[in-house]
Amino acid sequence: LRRNAGEPEFHQAVREVLESLGRVVAKHPAYASDALIERICEPERQIIFRIPWIDDAGQVQINRGFRVQFNSALGPYKGGIRFHPSVNIGIIKFLGFEQTFKNALTGLPIGGGKGGADFNPRGRSDREIMRFCQSFMTELFRHLGEHTDVPAGDIGVGGREIGYLFGQYKRLTNRYEAGVLTGKGLPYGGSRARKEATGFGAVYFVERMLAANSTSFEGRRVSVSGSGNVAIYTMEKILDFGGRVITCSDSNGYVVDENGIDLELVKEIKEVRRDRISEYARLKGTGVNYIDTGCIWDVPCDIAMPSATQNELTGKDARTLVKNGVVAVGEGANMPCTPEAVRIFQEAGVLFAPGKAANAGGVATSALEMQQNASRDSWTFEQTEHRLAEIMKNIHDTCAETARDYGVAGDYVQGANIAGFVRVAEAMRALGVI
Ligand code: NDP
Repeated sequence: LRRNAGEPEFHQAVREVLESLGRVVAKHPAYASDALIERICEPERQIIFRIPWIDDAGQVQINRGFRVQFNSALGPYKGGIRFHPSVNIGIIKFLGFEQTFKNALTGLPIGGGKGGADFNPRGRSDREIMRFCQSFMTELFRHLGEHTDVPAGDIGVGGREIGYLFGQYKRLTNRYEAGVLTGKGLPYGGSRARKEATGFGAVYFVERMLAANSTSFEGRRVSVSGSGNVAIYTMEKILDFGGRVITCSDSNGYVVDENGIDLELVKEIKEVRRDRISEYARLKGTGVNYIDTGCIWDVPCDIAMPSATQNELTGKDARTLVKNGVVAVGEGANMPCTPEAVRIFQEAGVLFAPGKAANAGGVATSALEMQQNASRDSWTFEQTEHRLAEIMKNIHDTCAETARDYGVAGDYVQGANIAGFVRVAEAMRALGVI
Protein backbone atom coordinates (compact mmCIF):
# COMPACT_ATOMS: atom_id res chain seq x y z
CA LEU A 1 0.00 0.00 0.00
CA ARG A 2 2.82 2.39 0.90
CA ARG A 3 4.52 1.87 -2.44
CA ASN A 4 1.27 2.66 -4.29
CA ALA A 5 -0.08 5.45 -2.08
CA GLY A 6 -3.02 7.48 -3.36
CA GLU A 7 -4.01 4.93 -6.00
CA PRO A 8 -7.42 3.65 -4.82
CA GLU A 9 -8.45 2.11 -8.17
CA PHE A 10 -5.20 0.14 -8.35
CA HIS A 11 -5.71 -1.12 -4.78
CA GLN A 12 -9.28 -2.11 -5.67
CA ALA A 13 -8.22 -4.11 -8.73
CA VAL A 14 -5.35 -5.86 -6.94
CA ARG A 15 -7.44 -6.69 -3.88
CA GLU A 16 -10.12 -8.29 -6.06
CA VAL A 17 -7.61 -10.59 -7.75
CA LEU A 18 -5.74 -11.43 -4.52
CA GLU A 19 -9.02 -12.39 -2.86
CA SER A 20 -9.39 -15.14 -5.48
CA LEU A 21 -5.89 -16.56 -5.06
CA GLY A 22 -6.18 -18.30 -1.68
CA ARG A 23 -7.72 -21.34 -3.36
CA VAL A 24 -5.00 -21.43 -6.04
CA VAL A 25 -2.11 -21.24 -3.60
CA ALA A 26 -3.71 -23.91 -1.40
CA LYS A 27 -3.76 -26.24 -4.43
CA HIS A 28 -0.42 -25.13 -5.97
CA PRO A 29 1.90 -23.72 -3.27
CA ALA A 30 4.60 -23.16 -5.92
CA TYR A 31 2.67 -20.12 -7.17
CA ALA A 32 3.45 -18.36 -3.88
CA SER A 33 7.21 -19.03 -4.13
CA ASP A 34 9.90 -16.65 -5.46
CA ALA A 35 7.68 -13.67 -4.60
CA LEU A 36 5.68 -14.46 -7.71
CA ILE A 37 2.52 -12.78 -6.46
CA GLU A 38 4.45 -9.65 -5.40
CA ARG A 39 6.16 -9.57 -8.81
CA ILE A 40 2.85 -9.93 -10.67
CA CYS A 41 1.50 -6.85 -8.82
CA GLU A 42 4.52 -4.69 -9.70
CA PRO A 43 4.59 -3.18 -13.22
CA GLU A 44 7.71 -4.05 -15.21
CA ARG A 45 8.08 -0.42 -16.30
CA GLN A 46 6.24 2.89 -15.82
CA ILE A 47 6.80 5.84 -18.13
CA ILE A 48 5.53 9.35 -17.30
CA PHE A 49 6.14 12.20 -19.70
CA ARG A 50 5.35 15.81 -20.62
CA ILE A 51 3.11 16.53 -23.61
CA PRO A 52 3.44 20.14 -24.80
CA TRP A 53 1.11 21.22 -27.62
CA ILE A 54 -0.31 24.40 -29.09
CA ASP A 55 -4.06 25.04 -29.08
CA ASP A 56 -6.03 26.86 -31.79
CA ALA A 57 -5.61 30.17 -29.93
CA GLY A 58 -1.81 29.81 -30.13
CA GLN A 59 -1.46 29.04 -26.41
CA VAL A 60 0.96 26.37 -25.22
CA GLN A 61 -0.82 23.63 -23.27
CA ILE A 62 0.81 20.96 -21.12
CA ASN A 63 -0.57 17.53 -20.32
CA ARG A 64 0.90 14.50 -18.62
CA GLY A 65 1.29 11.21 -20.49
CA PHE A 66 1.61 7.69 -19.10
CA ARG A 67 2.47 4.21 -20.32
CA VAL A 68 2.57 1.36 -17.83
CA GLN A 69 4.20 -1.74 -19.30
CA PHE A 70 2.78 -4.14 -16.77
CA ASN A 71 3.67 -7.68 -17.71
CA SER A 72 5.32 -9.21 -20.79
CA ALA A 73 5.47 -12.87 -19.73
CA LEU A 74 3.01 -13.91 -22.45
CA GLY A 75 3.93 -11.51 -25.24
CA PRO A 76 4.47 -7.83 -26.07
CA TYR A 77 2.69 -5.37 -23.77
CA LYS A 78 -0.82 -4.82 -25.14
CA GLY A 79 -3.52 -2.43 -23.96
CA GLY A 80 -5.27 0.78 -24.85
CA ILE A 81 -4.57 4.48 -24.49
CA ARG A 82 -7.09 6.66 -22.62
CA PHE A 83 -7.49 10.41 -23.05
CA HIS A 84 -9.63 11.73 -20.18
CA PRO A 85 -9.08 14.45 -17.56
CA SER A 86 -9.39 11.85 -14.77
CA VAL A 87 -6.31 9.91 -15.97
CA ASN A 88 -3.50 9.51 -13.44
CA ILE A 89 -0.87 6.86 -12.73
CA GLY A 90 -3.16 4.90 -10.37
CA ILE A 91 -5.92 4.59 -12.99
CA ILE A 92 -3.42 3.48 -15.65
CA LYS A 93 -1.90 0.92 -13.25
CA PHE A 94 -5.33 -0.53 -12.39
CA LEU A 95 -6.12 -0.82 -16.09
CA GLY A 96 -2.72 -2.38 -16.90
CA PHE A 97 -3.07 -4.89 -14.08
CA GLU A 98 -6.56 -5.94 -15.25
CA GLN A 99 -5.31 -6.06 -18.82
CA THR A 100 -2.61 -8.59 -17.96
CA PHE A 101 -5.15 -11.20 -16.80
CA LYS A 102 -7.70 -10.30 -19.48
CA ASN A 103 -5.12 -10.82 -22.19
CA ALA A 104 -4.13 -14.15 -20.62
CA LEU A 105 -7.78 -15.26 -20.74
CA THR A 106 -7.89 -14.76 -24.52
CA GLY A 107 -5.32 -17.56 -24.88
CA LEU A 108 -3.39 -15.34 -27.33
CA PRO A 109 0.31 -14.36 -27.01
CA ILE A 110 -0.09 -10.86 -25.56
CA GLY A 111 1.22 -9.29 -22.35
CA GLY A 112 -0.50 -6.45 -20.48
CA GLY A 113 -0.05 -2.68 -20.57
CA LYS A 114 -2.05 0.54 -20.57
CA GLY A 115 -1.44 4.22 -21.26
CA GLY A 116 -3.04 7.60 -21.59
CA ALA A 117 -3.03 11.26 -20.77
CA ASP A 118 -5.00 13.68 -18.59
CA PHE A 119 -6.09 15.45 -21.78
CA ASN A 120 -9.76 16.36 -22.22
CA PRO A 121 -10.70 15.95 -25.89
CA ARG A 122 -14.18 17.39 -25.31
CA GLY A 123 -14.66 20.60 -27.28
CA ARG A 124 -11.23 20.37 -28.96
CA SER A 125 -11.03 20.91 -32.73
CA ASP A 126 -9.83 18.20 -35.07
CA ARG A 127 -6.54 20.07 -35.55
CA GLU A 128 -5.99 20.31 -31.78
CA ILE A 129 -6.61 16.57 -31.44
CA MET A 130 -4.07 15.93 -34.21
CA ARG A 131 -1.39 18.14 -32.66
CA PHE A 132 -1.97 16.56 -29.27
CA CYS A 133 -1.68 13.02 -30.68
CA GLN A 134 1.52 13.97 -32.53
CA SER A 135 3.11 15.39 -29.38
CA PHE A 136 2.02 12.35 -27.34
CA MET A 137 3.63 9.99 -29.86
CA THR A 138 6.79 12.11 -30.14
CA GLU A 139 7.74 10.84 -26.69
CA LEU A 140 6.00 7.47 -26.66
CA PHE A 141 7.34 6.09 -29.97
CA ARG A 142 10.74 5.16 -28.47
CA HIS A 143 9.02 2.76 -26.06
CA LEU A 144 6.86 0.98 -28.66
CA GLY A 145 7.34 -1.68 -31.32
CA GLU A 146 5.40 -4.62 -32.72
CA HIS A 147 7.50 -7.00 -30.59
CA THR A 148 7.69 -4.65 -27.59
CA ASP A 149 4.52 -2.72 -26.85
CA VAL A 150 1.39 -2.39 -28.99
CA PRO A 151 -1.21 0.20 -27.84
CA ALA A 152 -4.84 0.51 -29.00
CA GLY A 153 -7.76 2.83 -28.20
CA ASP A 154 -9.79 3.29 -25.02
CA ILE A 155 -11.91 6.15 -23.62
CA GLY A 156 -11.36 9.24 -25.79
CA VAL A 157 -9.18 7.37 -28.30
CA GLY A 158 -10.97 5.97 -31.36
CA GLY A 159 -10.15 5.50 -35.03
CA ARG A 160 -9.34 9.18 -35.65
CA GLU A 161 -6.78 9.36 -32.83
CA ILE A 162 -5.19 6.01 -33.73
CA GLY A 163 -4.72 7.36 -37.28
CA TYR A 164 -2.88 10.47 -36.03
CA LEU A 165 -0.79 8.40 -33.59
CA PHE A 166 0.19 5.93 -36.30
CA GLY A 167 0.99 8.71 -38.76
CA GLN A 168 3.41 10.29 -36.29
CA TYR A 169 4.98 6.91 -35.38
CA LYS A 170 5.59 6.19 -39.07
CA ARG A 171 7.09 9.62 -39.61
CA LEU A 172 9.44 9.44 -36.62
CA THR A 173 10.69 5.90 -37.28
CA ASN A 174 10.58 5.86 -41.09
CA ARG A 175 9.03 2.39 -40.78
CA TYR A 176 5.63 1.20 -41.96
CA GLU A 177 5.26 -0.99 -38.91
CA ALA A 178 1.53 -1.67 -39.04
CA GLY A 179 1.62 -4.07 -36.10
CA VAL A 180 2.70 -1.35 -33.65
CA LEU A 181 -0.84 -0.06 -33.03
CA THR A 182 -4.25 -1.71 -33.30
CA GLY A 183 -7.69 -0.25 -33.92
CA LYS A 184 -6.33 1.20 -37.16
CA GLY A 185 -8.59 2.24 -40.05
CA LEU A 186 -9.16 -0.30 -42.82
CA PRO A 187 -7.17 1.64 -45.47
CA TYR A 188 -3.94 1.43 -43.46
CA GLY A 189 -3.82 -2.01 -41.87
CA GLY A 190 -6.87 -2.16 -39.62
CA SER A 191 -8.92 -5.27 -39.02
CA ARG A 192 -12.55 -5.67 -39.94
CA ALA A 193 -14.73 -6.14 -36.83
CA ARG A 194 -12.18 -4.49 -34.48
CA LYS A 195 -14.41 -1.45 -33.94
CA GLU A 196 -17.33 -3.72 -33.06
CA ALA A 197 -15.32 -6.32 -31.14
CA THR A 198 -15.52 -5.22 -27.49
CA GLY A 199 -19.28 -4.64 -27.53
CA PHE A 200 -20.06 -7.69 -29.68
CA GLY A 201 -17.76 -9.83 -27.51
CA ALA A 202 -19.40 -8.71 -24.27
CA VAL A 203 -22.81 -9.69 -25.62
CA TYR A 204 -21.49 -13.06 -26.87
CA PHE A 205 -20.14 -13.71 -23.37
CA VAL A 206 -23.41 -12.75 -21.63
CA GLU A 207 -25.47 -14.73 -24.15
CA ARG A 208 -23.46 -17.86 -23.37
CA MET A 209 -23.77 -17.21 -19.62
CA LEU A 210 -27.54 -16.85 -20.04
CA ALA A 211 -27.69 -20.01 -22.18
CA ALA A 212 -25.80 -21.94 -19.48
CA ASN A 213 -28.69 -20.93 -17.22
CA SER A 214 -31.38 -21.83 -19.76
CA THR A 215 -32.31 -18.30 -20.78
CA SER A 216 -31.35 -15.68 -23.39
CA PHE A 217 -31.55 -12.02 -24.48
CA GLU A 218 -34.78 -12.70 -26.41
CA GLY A 219 -37.48 -10.23 -25.37
CA ARG A 220 -35.39 -8.89 -22.46
CA ARG A 221 -35.26 -5.21 -21.41
CA VAL A 222 -31.61 -4.22 -21.37
CA SER A 223 -30.01 -1.10 -19.86
CA VAL A 224 -26.72 -0.04 -21.42
CA SER A 225 -24.69 2.87 -20.02
CA GLY A 226 -22.33 5.01 -22.07
CA SER A 227 -22.69 5.84 -25.75
CA GLY A 228 -19.12 5.35 -26.92
CA ASN A 229 -17.43 2.56 -28.82
CA VAL A 230 -18.24 -0.24 -26.38
CA ALA A 231 -21.83 0.87 -25.67
CA ILE A 232 -22.78 1.31 -29.35
CA TYR A 233 -21.68 -2.16 -30.45
CA THR A 234 -23.05 -3.74 -27.28
CA MET A 235 -26.42 -2.30 -28.26
CA GLU A 236 -26.07 -3.56 -31.83
CA LYS A 237 -25.41 -7.17 -30.82
CA ILE A 238 -28.16 -7.16 -28.17
CA LEU A 239 -30.60 -6.20 -30.94
CA ASP A 240 -29.27 -9.09 -33.08
CA PHE A 241 -30.01 -11.45 -30.19
CA GLY A 242 -33.60 -10.18 -29.84
CA GLY A 243 -33.17 -7.95 -26.78
CA ARG A 244 -34.65 -4.46 -26.39
CA VAL A 245 -32.21 -1.73 -25.35
CA ILE A 246 -34.04 0.98 -23.42
CA THR A 247 -31.23 3.27 -22.19
CA CYS A 248 -27.87 4.78 -23.03
CA SER A 249 -25.95 7.71 -21.57
CA ASP A 250 -22.96 10.01 -21.42
CA SER A 251 -21.37 11.78 -18.48
CA ASN A 252 -24.06 14.51 -18.56
CA GLY A 253 -27.18 12.34 -18.45
CA TYR A 254 -29.13 9.42 -19.91
CA VAL A 255 -32.02 8.75 -22.26
CA VAL A 256 -34.86 6.28 -21.78
CA ASP A 257 -36.66 5.16 -24.93
CA GLU A 258 -39.31 2.57 -24.14
CA ASN A 259 -39.73 1.85 -27.86
CA GLY A 260 -36.15 0.66 -27.98
CA ILE A 261 -33.11 2.84 -28.59
CA ASP A 262 -32.77 3.88 -32.24
CA LEU A 263 -29.20 2.74 -32.84
CA GLU A 264 -28.76 4.44 -36.20
CA LEU A 265 -29.60 7.77 -34.58
CA VAL A 266 -27.11 7.14 -31.74
CA LYS A 267 -24.40 6.35 -34.32
CA GLU A 268 -25.20 9.50 -36.26
CA ILE A 269 -25.00 11.64 -33.10
CA LYS A 270 -21.90 10.04 -31.58
CA GLU A 271 -19.83 8.78 -34.51
CA VAL A 272 -20.62 11.35 -37.20
CA ARG A 273 -21.50 14.57 -35.39
CA ARG A 274 -19.47 13.81 -32.19
CA ASP A 275 -22.31 15.37 -30.22
CA ARG A 276 -23.95 14.74 -26.81
CA ILE A 277 -26.60 12.10 -26.05
CA SER A 278 -29.10 14.81 -25.05
CA GLU A 279 -29.40 15.38 -28.82
CA TYR A 280 -31.12 11.97 -29.06
CA ALA A 281 -34.08 13.18 -26.99
CA ARG A 282 -34.21 16.50 -28.83
CA LEU A 283 -34.29 14.85 -32.26
CA LYS A 284 -36.71 12.07 -31.26
CA GLY A 285 -39.17 14.39 -29.54
CA THR A 286 -42.09 12.90 -27.62
CA GLY A 287 -41.86 9.49 -25.99
CA VAL A 288 -38.18 9.81 -25.08
CA ASN A 289 -36.93 11.09 -21.73
CA TYR A 290 -33.57 12.77 -21.23
CA ILE A 291 -32.61 12.83 -17.57
CA ASP A 292 -29.62 14.78 -16.33
CA THR A 293 -30.24 14.19 -12.63
CA GLY A 294 -30.75 10.81 -11.01
CA CYS A 295 -29.24 7.58 -12.11
CA ILE A 296 -29.51 5.32 -15.14
CA TRP A 297 -29.68 2.21 -12.91
CA ASP A 298 -33.01 3.38 -11.45
CA VAL A 299 -34.64 2.34 -14.75
CA PRO A 300 -36.09 -1.19 -14.32
CA CYS A 301 -34.42 -3.76 -16.60
CA ASP A 302 -33.79 -7.52 -16.90
CA ILE A 303 -30.15 -7.22 -17.94
CA ALA A 304 -27.68 -4.39 -17.21
CA MET A 305 -24.55 -3.79 -19.26
CA PRO A 306 -22.46 -0.95 -17.75
CA SER A 307 -20.23 0.19 -20.62
CA ALA A 308 -18.93 3.66 -19.67
CA THR A 309 -16.26 3.78 -16.95
CA GLN A 310 -14.93 2.43 -13.64
CA ASN A 311 -17.10 2.46 -10.49
CA GLU A 312 -20.16 3.82 -12.32
CA LEU A 313 -22.48 1.27 -10.66
CA THR A 314 -22.48 1.43 -6.85
CA GLY A 315 -23.88 -0.74 -4.06
CA LYS A 316 -26.97 1.46 -3.92
CA ASP A 317 -27.50 1.02 -7.68
CA ALA A 318 -27.06 -2.75 -7.34
CA ARG A 319 -29.76 -2.88 -4.64
CA THR A 320 -32.13 -0.95 -6.90
CA LEU A 321 -31.44 -3.25 -9.86
CA VAL A 322 -31.97 -6.36 -7.71
CA LYS A 323 -35.22 -4.94 -6.31
CA ASN A 324 -36.35 -4.29 -9.90
CA GLY A 325 -35.68 -7.92 -10.87
CA VAL A 326 -32.39 -7.81 -12.82
CA VAL A 327 -31.31 -11.34 -13.79
CA ALA A 328 -27.85 -10.68 -15.29
CA VAL A 329 -25.14 -8.02 -15.34
CA GLY A 330 -22.35 -7.94 -17.93
CA GLU A 331 -19.48 -5.50 -17.52
CA GLY A 332 -18.61 -3.93 -20.88
CA ALA A 333 -16.40 -1.29 -19.24
CA ASN A 334 -13.39 -2.00 -17.03
CA MET A 335 -14.39 -2.43 -13.36
CA PRO A 336 -17.68 -0.47 -13.72
CA CYS A 337 -19.24 -2.15 -10.66
CA THR A 338 -17.88 -1.33 -7.21
CA PRO A 339 -16.86 -4.30 -5.01
CA GLU A 340 -20.02 -3.77 -2.93
CA ALA A 341 -22.19 -3.88 -6.06
CA VAL A 342 -20.56 -7.14 -7.19
CA ARG A 343 -21.15 -8.70 -3.76
CA ILE A 344 -24.83 -7.65 -3.78
CA PHE A 345 -25.39 -9.16 -7.24
CA GLN A 346 -23.69 -12.41 -6.33
CA GLU A 347 -25.53 -12.75 -3.01
CA ALA A 348 -28.83 -12.13 -4.81
CA GLY A 349 -28.07 -14.87 -7.35
CA VAL A 350 -27.78 -12.42 -10.26
CA LEU A 351 -25.57 -13.81 -13.06
CA PHE A 352 -22.47 -11.61 -13.12
CA ALA A 353 -19.93 -11.38 -15.95
CA PRO A 354 -16.76 -9.47 -14.89
CA GLY A 355 -15.20 -7.07 -17.40
CA LYS A 356 -11.87 -8.84 -17.29
CA ALA A 357 -13.53 -11.73 -19.13
CA ALA A 358 -16.59 -10.17 -20.77
CA ASN A 359 -14.86 -7.24 -22.48
CA ALA A 360 -11.82 -9.22 -23.67
CA GLY A 361 -13.19 -9.36 -27.23
CA GLY A 362 -11.62 -6.01 -28.11
CA VAL A 363 -8.09 -6.95 -27.23
CA ALA A 364 -8.56 -10.43 -28.69
CA THR A 365 -9.49 -8.88 -32.03
CA SER A 366 -6.54 -6.51 -31.68
CA ALA A 367 -4.37 -9.63 -31.49
CA LEU A 368 -6.11 -10.85 -34.66
CA GLU A 369 -5.25 -7.47 -36.24
CA MET A 370 -1.60 -8.10 -35.30
CA GLN A 371 -1.82 -11.54 -36.95
CA GLN A 372 -3.20 -10.01 -40.14
CA ASN A 373 -0.47 -7.33 -40.13
CA ALA A 374 2.27 -9.92 -39.59
CA SER A 375 1.06 -12.02 -42.51
CA ARG A 376 0.20 -8.96 -44.64
CA ASP A 377 -3.31 -10.32 -44.95
CA SER A 378 -6.82 -8.94 -44.48
CA TRP A 379 -9.68 -11.16 -43.37
CA THR A 380 -13.38 -10.72 -44.11
CA PHE A 381 -15.77 -9.36 -41.49
CA GLU A 382 -17.47 -12.74 -41.17
CA GLN A 383 -14.19 -14.62 -40.71
CA THR A 384 -13.02 -12.16 -38.03
CA GLU A 385 -16.35 -12.09 -36.19
CA HIS A 386 -16.43 -15.89 -36.26
CA ARG A 387 -12.99 -16.00 -34.59
CA LEU A 388 -14.18 -13.44 -32.02
CA ALA A 389 -17.30 -15.48 -31.21
CA GLU A 390 -15.18 -18.63 -30.75
CA ILE A 391 -12.73 -16.79 -28.48
CA MET A 392 -15.56 -15.42 -26.31
CA LYS A 393 -17.12 -18.88 -26.05
CA ASN A 394 -13.76 -20.27 -24.91
CA ILE A 395 -13.25 -17.49 -22.38
CA HIS A 396 -16.71 -18.09 -20.95
CA ASP A 397 -16.19 -21.84 -20.71
CA THR A 398 -12.70 -21.47 -19.21
CA CYS A 399 -14.07 -19.16 -16.48
CA ALA A 400 -17.03 -21.45 -15.77
CA GLU A 401 -14.89 -24.63 -15.68
CA THR A 402 -12.18 -23.01 -13.54
CA ALA A 403 -14.81 -21.83 -11.04
CA ARG A 404 -16.20 -25.39 -10.88
CA ASP A 405 -12.71 -26.92 -10.46
CA TYR A 406 -11.97 -24.60 -7.55
CA GLY A 407 -15.27 -25.23 -5.75
CA VAL A 408 -16.95 -21.90 -6.60
CA ALA A 409 -19.26 -22.97 -9.45
CA GLY A 410 -21.13 -20.07 -11.05
CA ASP A 411 -18.68 -17.46 -9.74
CA TYR A 412 -17.29 -15.93 -12.93
CA VAL A 413 -15.25 -13.36 -10.97
CA GLN A 414 -13.17 -16.05 -9.30
CA GLY A 415 -13.14 -18.19 -12.44
CA ALA A 416 -11.69 -15.31 -14.49
CA ASN A 417 -9.17 -14.25 -11.85
CA ILE A 418 -7.89 -17.77 -11.26
CA ALA A 419 -7.70 -18.81 -14.93
CA GLY A 420 -5.97 -15.56 -15.93
CA PHE A 421 -3.54 -15.73 -13.01
CA VAL A 422 -2.57 -19.35 -13.64
CA ARG A 423 -1.64 -18.69 -17.27
CA VAL A 424 0.52 -15.66 -16.41
CA ALA A 425 2.04 -17.39 -13.36
CA GLU A 426 3.00 -20.50 -15.36
CA ALA A 427 4.85 -18.35 -17.91
CA MET A 428 6.56 -16.25 -15.23
CA ARG A 429 7.78 -19.36 -13.39
CA ALA A 430 9.22 -20.75 -16.61
CA LEU A 431 11.07 -17.49 -17.35
CA GLY A 432 12.81 -17.38 -13.97
CA VAL A 433 13.10 -14.51 -11.51
CA ILE A 434 13.13 -11.49 -13.83
P1 NDP B 1 -15.50 5.95 -25.45
O1 NDP B 1 -14.66 7.14 -25.19
O2 NDP B 1 -15.81 5.57 -26.84
O3 NDP B 1 -16.89 6.10 -24.67
C1 NDP B 1 -16.92 6.28 -23.29
C2 NDP B 1 -18.38 6.51 -22.88
O4 NDP B 1 -18.44 6.50 -21.45
C3 NDP B 1 -18.90 7.86 -23.32
O5 NDP B 1 -20.28 7.78 -23.50
C4 NDP B 1 -18.55 8.76 -22.12
O6 NDP B 1 -19.34 9.91 -21.98
C5 NDP B 1 -18.83 7.79 -20.98
N1 NDP B 1 -17.97 8.16 -19.83
C6 NDP B 1 -16.62 8.27 -19.79
N2 NDP B 1 -16.21 8.66 -18.60
C7 NDP B 1 -17.32 8.81 -17.86
C8 NDP B 1 -17.55 9.21 -16.54
N3 NDP B 1 -16.55 9.55 -15.71
N4 NDP B 1 -18.84 9.22 -16.10
C9 NDP B 1 -19.87 8.88 -16.93
N5 NDP B 1 -19.70 8.51 -18.21
C10 NDP B 1 -18.45 8.48 -18.65
O7 NDP B 1 -14.78 4.74 -24.65
P2 NDP B 1 -14.99 3.17 -24.87
O8 NDP B 1 -16.40 2.88 -25.23
O9 NDP B 1 -13.89 2.69 -25.72
O10 NDP B 1 -14.68 2.63 -23.38
C11 NDP B 1 -15.71 2.43 -22.41
C12 NDP B 1 -15.21 1.48 -21.34
O11 NDP B 1 -14.89 0.20 -21.94
C13 NDP B 1 -13.94 1.90 -20.59
O12 NDP B 1 -14.01 1.41 -19.26
C14 NDP B 1 -12.84 1.16 -21.34
O13 NDP B 1 -11.69 0.97 -20.55
C15 NDP B 1 -13.55 -0.16 -21.61
N6 NDP B 1 -12.99 -0.97 -22.69
C16 NDP B 1 -12.86 -0.47 -23.96
C17 NDP B 1 -12.35 -1.26 -24.97
C18 NDP B 1 -12.32 -0.81 -26.39
O14 NDP B 1 -12.02 -1.65 -27.26
N7 NDP B 1 -12.62 0.43 -26.70
C19 NDP B 1 -11.86 -2.62 -24.68
C20 NDP B 1 -12.13 -3.08 -23.34
C21 NDP B 1 -12.65 -2.26 -22.39
P3 NDP B 1 -18.70 11.37 -22.25
O15 NDP B 1 -18.67 11.50 -23.73
O16 NDP B 1 -19.64 12.30 -21.59
O17 NDP B 1 -17.33 11.38 -21.63
